[in-house]
Amino acid sequence: METMNVQKKSLEFDPNLYRQDFPILNTIVHGKPLVYFDNAATTQKPRMVIEQIVDYYQGMNANVHRAIHYLGEKATVAFEEARKKVAKFINAPSARQIVFTRGTTEAINLVATAWGEKFIGQDDEIILTEMEHHSNLIPWQLLAQKVGAKLRFIPFTPNGALDFEAFEKILNNKTRLISLTYMSNVFGTINPIKRIVRMAKDRGIPVLLDGAQSVPHLPTDVQQLDCDFLAFSGHKMLGPTGIGVLYAKMHHWENMNPYQGGGEMIQSVWLDRATWNEIPYKFEAGTPNIAGAIALGAAIDYLSKIGMEKITLFEQELTTYALNKLADLKGIVIYGNAAERGGVISFNLGDVHPHDLSHFLDQQGIAVRAGHHCAQPIMRKLDIAATTRASFYFYNTFEEIDYFVEQLKEAIEFFTP
Ligand code: PLP
Repeated sequence: METMNVQKKSLEFDPNLYRQDFPILNTIVHGKPLVYFDNAATTQKPRMVIEQIVDYYQGMNANVHRAIHYLGEKATVAFEEARKKVAKFINAPSARQIVFTRGTTEAINLVATAWGEKFIGQDDEIILTEMEHHSNLIPWQLLAQKVGAKLRFIPFTPNGALDFEAFEKILNNKTRLISLTYMSNVFGTINPIKRIVRMAKDRGIPVLLDGAQSVPHLPTDVQQLDCDFLAFSGHKMLGPTGIGVLYAKMHHWENMNPYQGGGEMIQSVWLDRATWNEIPYKFEAGTPNIAGAIALGAAIDYLSKIGMEKITLFEQELTTYALNKLADLKGIVIYGNAAERGGVISFNLGDVHPHDLSHFLDQQGIAVRAGHHCAQPIMRKLDIAATTRASFYFYNTFEEIDYFVEQLKEAIEFFTP
C-alpha cells in the first residue's frame, strides 16, 4: 500500500514551541537525540512543573490544614488552589468533589473499598471490559471475592473496540456498577463513553471512568459525560508521580465510608470511636502529597494554556501519520484499529520479542514500551506474550515519527534478513 500523502506539518500546532520547556527532551541517548514515545507510561515534565516543586519546598513547605502560621497558611492556600484547578479542568461542579490520591490505581481502590463494600453485595454484578488495565480489574476482583459479587466483561472485537451487542446481553438488574477505561492503553481505542453512560443511566447504574489515558489527551467535562466517578493520574499529564485524582458525584461522596483512617479525615476522636471530617478531607487521611498536588496544578495551567482541543487534534494528526507510515512496513502487525482512537500504537514485528525490538530502538535513542502493558487479559485473548507500544504526546514531532519508522526498517532488516 502506498503511504497516504498526509501533511507533515500541522497547520495549527507547532510542538517545537513547547519542546524547549522540557529539559529532558534534550537528552542524548547512546549518542542519539532522545525520541520519547513512552508517554502512555508517563509523560515528561515542563520546567514550570519542576520549578513549582522546588518553589514549594524552598518557599512554603509546611503541613496543610493544621498549622496556624505563615507557611502553613501559604501551603494550604496553594494546595486548595490546586484542587480548584483540577475541578475547573474537568468541569466538576465543586472543588469539594475532588479528592487527591496517589494516582488512578489508588482512586479506583478507594471506590472499590469505600463505595463498593457498602453498595455491592452477594450475587451483585460489576461490568468491566476485557481491555482494562490491571488497575481497573484487580480492585474489583478483590471486592468480588470479599462480598461474593460477580464480574462480567464487555468483550473487545478484533479491531479493539467494545462489542455493544454482547454488552446489552450482560446488562441486567443485578448490575451495580460499570467501570471501564475511557481510552485503552494498549489499543488506543477511545470508548464511546456517552453511549455507555446513557445505557447505564436508563437502568440507574453508576459508571466509573478510568481516565488515566483520556484526561491527559482529551478535553474532559464530567458534567457532560455524566459519569459517577472519574479516576486519573498526574504523572501522565505533565505532573509529578504520586499524585492523582478521584472525582465523584456529590451524593456518592456523601454516602461513602471512609477509605483510610488517620489524621485529617476525622472531626472528633474518642478512644473507641470517631466522627468524620467534611468532604473531601474525610477521604484524605494523613499528610497528602502537597508538593505533588501543587505541581499538578502547574501542569494543568500549562495544558490549559495550550488548550486540550488543540492537543487532541494534533495528536490525531501525529497518530494518523504514524499509522499510515507503519502500514507500509512488512511484518508489522498493529493491534487495535478502532475508528475513534488516541495516540497509542501497539504492534509486533513478526516473531521478534518486543523486548529485543525495544532494545534495538533504544540503541537508536527511541524510548518505546515493551511488555503486557499491565493488561495481561488482552495479551491472553490475542494469544501473544507482549507488544511494543509507541505512545505520543503534544511535544512529539512528525520528524520523530519519520526517524522511528526509519529505525523500524533497520530493525526489520536486522531481525528478518
Ligand atoms: N489505567 C490505565 C488505562 C492506565 O494506562 C494506567 C497506567 O498506565 C493506570 C490505569 C494506572 O495508573 P497509575 O499507575 O498512575 O495509578
